[in-house]
Amino acid sequence: MSEKLKPCPFCGSSILDTYKIGNGRVVACRDCGGGANVNRWNTRPLEQELVEALKDLTDACDNFGVSGGNIPHAKTIIAKAEGRS
Ligand SMILES: [Zn+2]
Repeated sequence: MSEKLKPCPFCGSSILDTYKIGNGRVVACRDCGGGANVNRWNTRPLEQELVEALKDLTDACDNFGVSGGNIPHAKTIIAKAEGRS
């Protein structure tokens, strides 16, 4: 199984280990020790909802030619949440 893991929800680290336990896999963060079943680790409905709202806001700013302030930071957060950075 090669499912891409999201960064740690507790500390943001991408230094993660996976272990097979029984019929499932678990993830453990090397930096903070947080861990969970792989499916639960990658399921973050509130985070996904926030990212979608942030995308709508940054898209609206782009449409109005607004690019300063916290917009670059917001785009970095979106990319990080989607595993692109
Ligand atoms: Zn962590």
